[in-house]
Formats: sequence, structure tokens, C-alpha cells
Amino acid sequence: MRPLEEADLGAVDGVAFDVDDTLTTHGALTVPAYAALAELKGAGFRLIAVTGRPLGWADAMAATWPIDAAVGENGAGWTWRDGRTLRTGYADDPVTRAEQRDVLEAIRRDVHHHLPELREASDQPARRCDLAFDIGEGDQVPEPTVRALVERIRSHGAAVTVSSVHAHAIPGSWDKARGVRGAVRDALGEPLDRDRWLFVGDSGNDEAGFAFFEHTVGVANVRDHLERLSTPPAWVTQAERGEGFAELAAALLRARS
Ligand SMILES: [Mg+2]
Repeated sequence: MRPLEEADLGAVDGVAFDVDDTLTTHGALTVPAYAALAELKGAGFRLIAVTGRPLGWADAMAATWPIDAAVGENGAGWTWRDGRTLRTGYADDPVTRAEQRDVLEAIRRDVHHHLPELREASDQPARRCDLAFDIGEGDQVPEPTVRALVERIRSHGAAVTVSSVHAHAIPGSWDKARGVRGAVRDALGEPLDRDRWLFVGDSGNDEAGFAFFEHTVGVANVRDHLERLSTPPAWVTQAERGEGFAELAAALLRARS
């Protein structure tokens, strides 16, 4: 990872950004981070939030933030505004999603039986396609327990991705990079041009984004999660979390002017 100030960002006009601990700071959307988002939008950048948070949260982000779309549940679906109507796209069709819910129910029963100390994420009721367990939000779960959870989820044929706050059981083949591609296609009506889009994140569930995009940035706290990343970001900010996002926004705006 090289310092962000060495990056050539002149070709970038789209930003796909993680939310937890990338845009937000310990769960809060701070004034500087939100202002950075609004300034990028005002300067003409296309913006897509891409989060492990529920699709129900992605709806609220797309409805109220100055962005073009929000991808939720690590790529399972995406939401965008069409006038004042919210529209939603999914990685999989309705029949497949119903089958996936049965897989999640089996995982839920299995984990409750074998790892009863684990709790589902407090935002689980707003989820439509995945099942998330709290590993670092309300609860601090030790690493061996996280590894046991990951093995148990995989034994059901589901994929797993781990963020700074949650471990997600994923019963399909979506990821953040595919989710952003779907959102760009549906919300912006164009194929994703990898040379023009930048991805910024901080954690294990950003791995697909770091691997796929041409321009990749980690906020400084990505250093805490490098053991979960087979592909680290190309550049890293000096500041952590929301301040790191604001640092990136300033660099993008400078590159433009
Ligand atoms: Mg994150």
C-alpha cells in the first residue's frame, strides 16, 4: 500500500465506498464525512454506497443521502431513486432467493445450537438475503469463535465474509464488486468502467472490491484487517475512518481541478 498523495486520481469520476469504519466513525456519520460526500456529489462525481448493512438500511441511504445508489448485504441487492420512487435490484431471482432463505434458516438453527454465545446482528430484522452475526459491534467475539462460526457456515455450502462488526452467511455468489456493477447498470444505465471508478474500504468484506477495481483505497484502519485481505488496496489514507474518507474526497476534488 502506498500513501494516497502518490495516487493519480485524474481519471476517476465514480466512487464506490464502504460505510462502516470507512465513511462512518465507530458507527456515527460525522459532519466532515457527510460534507465530503455532498462536496463530491456537487462536483459531479457518481457515488455508490456498498455495505454489509441490510437492504432495509440501503433503502434509507439511497432515499436520503446525496448518492446515486446503495448496495446492501455485501452485494445481494441495490436500491436507487427514480424520481421519488425507490427501486431495487437483486443479484438473484425470487425463486432462488426463497431457496436461499431455507439455507439461512438451517444455518441459524445450527449456530444457535453449537455456538449459543453468539448473537445475530441487531440489524438482522432489516435484512432480506443474508444472515449476520455480531462479532465486534455490541459484542467482542474472540477470534477462535469467529473461525468456528466461519467453518459452521461453510459446512452448509454458504460463503462467509467478515467485516469489522459482523460475520455474514451468504447463500449466493454475490459480492461487493458484483453488487456495484449491478447498481451502475440499473441506476446509471451504463456498464461499469473500471478505469473511472474508485473503491474505498477498510475490512475483510471489502476484499472483492479491492481485487476488482482499478483504483483502490483503504482508510488507515485497513491496517487492522490486512490478515483478512488477500488483495490489499493500492493506496492508503493517513487518517482513519470518516476522516480518511474526507481526506480521499479532498484528493479527488484536487485531482479534478
Ligand atoms: Mg467497513
